[in-house]
Amino acid sequence: MNCYKCGTKMEYINTDLPFKIQTNSIVIIKKLPVWQCVNCNEYLIEDGVMKKVDDLLANIDSKVEVEILSYAA
Ligand SMILES: [Zn+2]
Repeated sequence: MNCYKCGTKMEYINTDLPFKIQTNSIVIIKKLPVWQCVNCNEYLIEDGVMKKVDDLLANIDSKVEVEILSYAA
């Protein structure tokens, strides 16, 4: 897969990414599998992975300011 911004080959890696779910609420998902560009650091999340992220975020108590989850859990 190539980067949609700069065209460089992307690598499939596990990384930690923050998702903002409410004005004051952020969820950090650890070990999330994403495609990342080695040149410009742009990343791409596959549809199947994004769906699981949506499921994880849907179960978060939005009163918590910061929540840390593991994708693989
Ligand atoms: Zn790139």
